[in-house]
Amino acid sequence: MTTTTWIKNSDWVVAYDSDTASHKYMKNADVVFEDDLIVFTGRNYVGGADTTIDGRDVMVLPGTLDLHLHAYMEMHGKGFFEDLASKQMSMTQLFEYTWLLQDDKESAFASTEASVCDLLKSGCTTMAELYCDQVAYDGWVDMLGKTGIRAYVCPMVQSGHWYTPDGKQHLYEWYEKEGLRNLDIALEVIDHAMSDSSGRLHGMVGAAQADTCTEELFHRCKAAAEKRNIPLQTHAAQSVMEHREMMRRHGQTPIEWLRSIGVLGSNTLLGHAINIDQHPWINHHEHNDLKYLAETETTVVHCPRAFAQWGDMMHSLGGYRAAGVNMALGTDCYPHDMIEEMRIAGLLSKVSSGHVDLLSTQDVFHVATLGAAKALGRDDLGRIAVGAKADIALVDLKHPSMRPVRDPLKCLIYSGTAAAVRDVYVNGELMVEDRKVLSIDQDDALNRLQEGQNRALKRVPERDWAHRSADQISPFCLPVEGLH
Ligand SMILES: [Zn+2]
Repeated sequence: MTTTTWIKNSDWVVAYDSDTASHKYMKNADVVFEDDLIVFTGRNYVGGADTTIDGRDVMVLPGTLDLHLHAYMEMHGKGFFEDLASKQMSMTQLFEYTWLLQDDKESAFASTEASVCDLLKSGCTTMAELYCDQVAYDGWVDMLGKTGIRAYVCPMVQSGHWYTPDGKQHLYEWYEKEGLRNLDIALEVIDHAMSDSSGRLHGMVGAAQADTCTEELFHRCKAAAEKRNIPLQTHAAQSVMEHREMMRRHGQTPIEWLRSIGVLGSNTLLGHAINIDQHPWINHHEHNDLKYLAETETTVVHCPRAFAQWGDMMHSLGGYRAAGVNMALGTDCYPHDMIEEMRIAGLLSKVSSGHVDLLSTQDVFHVATLGAAKALGRDDLGRIAVGAKADIALVDLKHPSMRPVRDPLKCLIYSGTAAAVRDVYVNGELMVEDRKVLSIDQDDALNRLQEGQNRALKRVPERDWAHRSADQISPFCLPVEGLH
């Protein structure tokens, strides 16, 4: 038996236009879905429905896709990471600070649940969760399934990891054979997710970083992804230090090296790819990276907020698109608010290119929806169209952040807040109703996350190369009276 839902006479629908392969507005339109699939878009639907929703004062949007985040760990850094960067390592957080707050499994699960709440409430319906094999996999896939979001599980493997002995240099500890063995375990996890019957769990192969995986591990990852017809994601070109390391090892930029070993391709997603050869901090003698990314149809997953925190930005999102690179968006660290991420992506593209014409509001939304769906090889996500998955957000046009309403997508991306998102469906199931996540106890998740953050902060001296306390590394932003 099917269940039919009719969103009736919406003020605005952001619908898919197959002629232009992009979005268009439809005024006073209906959207109807049966179970998990959209079956009608347009005016004057005449069939029946089990549930009818009044679409007046509502904008119907395709859910956005967040293709790069680490929900299991990054929320622990809220209130800690904001003003941190290693000044002796070209202003990155990666090598000295990233792993300081990694915590236990219970806290990782709480962080994931809290992160998914933020995503769903901002109208995001698909996430790619890049999970590190340092945390146990037991129960992870099932926990993700219970959150209700459409999740690409991406357990990352690596042949080694970086560390700093002194806050000035980054070194690598290698364990190549263990990395290969961990891939077998990761693939079991992926296969478990892909066998799930909910229709909301999918797989993605994860090779952690360009500079921490051997050529052999990359080849094995690529082959495993191709065999399953699923994407492969890695991090690349995310710091000046990484660029210098790859130049030292190979005489190539990270992008050039990945191309030379056959990793790039239409099935491959690169997290970040910000510090590429043309980036002003890199000052490389030739500029080929964008051309290689475009030629190979590789997707770049752009996560602007995390990098803006330490003063780095892409040059520029509009420029990458103009060069023909398929772009997607990710929240990476926190907050996991795709409206804010779209806003920062749009603003920083204007700032870094010094131009308003290189990236329109439509382009930003395209990146967060259709660009991401293309990266996943999915023509049924990121769009309101007959035959597409019913991954849908309803935006309240009466919310103060949306008013006055003229062009509602511009209002949402450049002025709106997640609180304007009223209801969210994933795979045809109501997951957010009147701004409340139905599948997760958000307060409980946040309470458990707070306990996890408290534990993680206490452990900072054990993890820091200089055994500094959390408060020494990241002092409070104001003098504190009464702190014990
Ligand atoms: Zn990442």
